[in-house]
Amino acid sequence: MLFSHDTEHALHMVVDLVNTGPAAADEEHLPDLVALQAFVERNRVSDVCDLDARDLDATLRLRERLHGVFQAPSDTELTVRRINAIIAEARTTPHLTDHEEWDWHVHFFAPGSRLAEHLAAECGIALAYVVAAGELHRLSVCEAPDCERVLIDLSRNRCRRYCDSRTCGNRMHVAAYRARQRESAPG
Ligand SMILES: [Zn+2]
Ligand SMILES: [Zn+2]
Repeated sequence: MLFSHDTEHALHMVVDLVNTGPAAADEEHLPDLVALQAFVERNRVSDVCDLDARDLDATLRLRERLHGVFQAPSDTELTVRRINAIIAEARTTPHLTDHEEWDWHVHFFAPGSRLAEHLAAECGIALAYVVAAGELHRLSVCEAPDCERVLIDLSRNRCRRYCDSRTCGNRMHVAAYRARQRESAPG
């Protein structure tokens, strides 16, 4: 594992959140509170209070800012400013916890935080660790044409080029296979 479990968990959450947006996906995947609740559940976000419309608004605003972190891949200083700004807006209270089956790890969000603030703290700091480890190049946008989804490649040999939408990797492999076949066809 490249980072600790909770950092990697937060990074997967960043990708999931950004990829719910119309700027990355083809449509809005967080249209309402039901979808937001589903996001919370599939990412197992802990200590979340009852969600209301303000949580949805704030989460969508945060999503845009997190998306910004992927949009200047060669400009580290700009990306760092964007990450620092995300963290600065969230109240943070680093504390050790061992909820559910997880061993001791550090949570950064302040107790009682609303969802967006919780996500800003956890996701912002996870992204800060990526920068501090010199691994910013692991953040990228899917290489498949017409796909704007983002990805964080946490594989050891950094071999990921496509998002995890399932279709992208497959359709690119099929296209490459067909191109090879055309090249090797007797002319
Ligand atoms: Zn935790
Ligand atoms: Zn893709």
